[in-house]
Amino acid sequence: MSREPFQSARNAGICVEITDIGHWSPVLLIAEYDAHRRVIRINARAVERLRKRRGEDAARALCAAAIAHELAHLEVQQHHPRTPRERSAIESAVNAHATATYGLDGTWFEQLLR
Ligand SMILES: [Zn+2]
Repeated sequence: MSREPFQSARNAGICVEITDIGHWSPVLLIAEYDAHRRVIRINARAVERLRKRRGEDAARALCAAAIAHELAHLEVQQHHPRTPRERSAIESAVNAHATATYGLDGTWFEQLLR
């Protein structure tokens, strides 16, 4: 059974904010984790863009996938200190972990938001 990302963030004492965290190019910025304040920030621009294109359910799914992705970053770092250092390799490991743990593939929304 997959874990639920909103509840998992709460259980870990991590807040979630939807806020403007910047521009699109060159890289689509969907979410970030602030380790100092223990908050996951989801880019309001990404949420709005997907809501306009695909509706409210898709916008909520984006938030869930973004939280799962940021939690997966933390979990991969904790449990696998020898994580590969190259960014693309890290992202692959994180996406695999998010899919296995939360049942959410983070790559689908990147395509939807292009
Ligand atoms: Zn990532």
